[in-house]
Amino acid sequence: MKLTKYEIPESSKRYYPNNPFIARVVSNQRLTEKESAVDIRNIVLDLSTSDIQYIEGQSIGVIPPGEQTDGRPHRPRLYSIASSRTGEYGCSLTVTLCVKRVITKDTEGHEVQGITSNYLCDLAIGDTVAIIGPAGRTFLLPQDDTTNLIMIAAGTGIAPFRAFIQRIYRDKKDWKGRVRLFYGVRNAMESAYMNRENDDISQYMTAETFESYQAFSHIESPSKAFVQNKVAENQEEICAMIDEGNFSFYLCGMKAMEAGVDDVFRNYASSKGRNWDEIKAKYKDEGRWNVETY
Ligand code: FAD
Repeated sequence: MKLTKYEIPESSKRYYPNNPFIARVVSNQRLTEKESAVDIRNIVLDLSTSDIQYIEGQSIGVIPPGEQTDGRPHRPRLYSIASSRTGEYGCSLTVTLCVKRVITKDTEGHEVQGITSNYLCDLAIGDTVAIIGPAGRTFLLPQDDTTNLIMIAAGTGIAPFRAFIQRIYRDKKDWKGRVRLFYGVRNAMESAYMNRENDDISQYMTAETFESYQAFSHIESPSKAFVQNKVAENQEEICAMIDEGNFSFYLCGMKAMEAGVDDVFRNYASSKGRNWDEIKAKYKDEGRWNVETY
């Protein structure tokens, strides 16, 4: 049966690259602990004069200032919204982005800074940012609050799940379905919204319906694990939730995590003599299998 999801408000204004909304920065706080080499930030933007009404699971596009080498403006980059529709402070006037500062090396070993992520991470309170959207019509929560939710994230893939969790446990308060969050990062210091710098998600861990599992890939064995290992450890419960039928599955983060997680479900299905590709196609069709990787 097709899943009925939250509806995107028709009255919401949508902004496009030729006429972006100019948002002001309300705050820009580091989410990763000081000792961590990774810089992930919680960036709050003021939408109070925009008429944007986003919902959880949508994204915002950011147009960095300046031009590409051919003189054309930079293309927008998408960022998952990390706040529920009531905004960072519960008053519907802000949107939050969870942005990782991207720094890589070119073929000669020189450091290359990602254009938009570095621009965003360096913003100060009061600075302005050109944004477009909101975008996204499928990676949304179901309307039925008895639905079991399975959320799997790596790195900044946690962003939409922070929005979901705010919606479920802060705004609605009475989600009846079971909620299972699996989160993979390199170490505990990088665990956005679940570390000593910011424990925004940890505060809901006592909720009766909520369980979360973290996987740290860059620590000593035997505790070292990738997110798919944690999913595999809990596959009996997760697959039972899926088999019951009233569920919605979400996976968000780097593309590289997709295959490992898929293998867990493929192996489980084949151990029961089922064809995973057929099952997954049906769930996708019903709007229950939601993947947003980048
Ligand atoms: P770019 O400038 O676009 O560079 C991209 C990569 O190429 C970088 O690794 C950069 O170092 C490398 N590179 C660039 N130039 C060179 C060169 N000359 N030589 C070698 N390497 C080079 N990101 C988040 O942080 N949080 C989110 O919540 C989030 N949500 C997303 C949701 C969606 C639906 C999608 C599609 C993407 C999302 N992203 C998110 C990713 C985001 O859109 C950007 O892709 C990311 O921030 C990098 O953009 P950038 O402009 O900083 O890097």
